[in-house]
Amino acid sequence: ILSVKNLRVAFGSVEAVHGLSFDIHRGETLALVGESGSGKSATALSILRLIEREGGRITGGSIRLGGESPAEITELAPAALRAIRGDRIAMVFQEPMTSLNPVMTIGAQLAETLALHRGLRGKVAREAARIALERVRIPEPDRRLDQYPHELSGGLRQRVMIAMALICEPDVLIADEPTTALDVTTQAEILALIAGLQRDLGMAVLFITHDLGVVSEIADRVVVLKDGNLVEEGRKADLFTAPRSDYARELLAATP
Ligand code: ATP
Ligand code: MG
Repeated sequence: ILSVKNLRVAFGSVEAVHGLSFDIHRGETLALVGESGSGKSATALSILRLIEREGGRITGGSIRLGGESPAEITELAPAALRAIRGDRIAMVFQEPMTSLNPVMTIGAQLAETLALHRGLRGKVAREAARIALERVRIPEPDRRLDQYPHELSGGLRQRVMIAMALICEPDVLIADEPTTALDVTTQAEILALIAGLQRDLGMAVLFITHDLGVVSEIADRVVVLKDGNLVEEGRKADLFTAPRSDYARELLAATP
């Protein structure tokens, strides 16, 4: 459903991703693993063409979204990009507060997305927003719709972010370290939630993490990045039982 080929990303004159290629298929979870600074977020932000906002740019390669109306993301105009973001490719970030609007209720933020991508308004939008919160198993969804982000715990905020990302049932969900800021119990709950939603909705998930424990929980396939280069790609089981690269062996040895 998504094919990244020879992707190059630079910040100013410094290249952060040096020709990265991988595919994500419908219904699978691909983990993108690597240490801090390896280019995971730069890759994710490039797929959504949000990299320009971070001061970076795509300097080469292609990002092809498949499906019924295929698109070359590197060549899309701003209007077409806005239509794809949230609707066909959605993203959840590490810290939900950076992507939630602090002065807008949860319900209003969900309604905004529904109006933009689905043309839904009023009661219909509110009902769709309530169902979206139910889907991520937020208790008392009706009451939550009228609350502001700061009134929710970190775990609930991350559930809201997932609800928002999935509200248009995207083909691809990109999750950039969505559980790193959470305690261990909440982290496990969120991982189980994403895995369950992935099965129910059949979407492709690009799951970014530096934690091989998380990889073993959630991934079907794994891409290992080091300093902006792919050092290993394969099925999860192969990574854990028969890593081919020295670097993957090092990572495994360092994981408790
Ligand atoms: P982390 O696990 O810490 O999130 P990451 O794998 O997501 O790391 P990236 O954020 O993609 O890493 O960064 C890749 C490289 O690009 C790093 O060398 C980083 O210093 C550089 N970089 C990232 N963002 C910027 C920026 N806004 N301006 C300049 N350089 C940047
Ligand atoms: Mg990152």
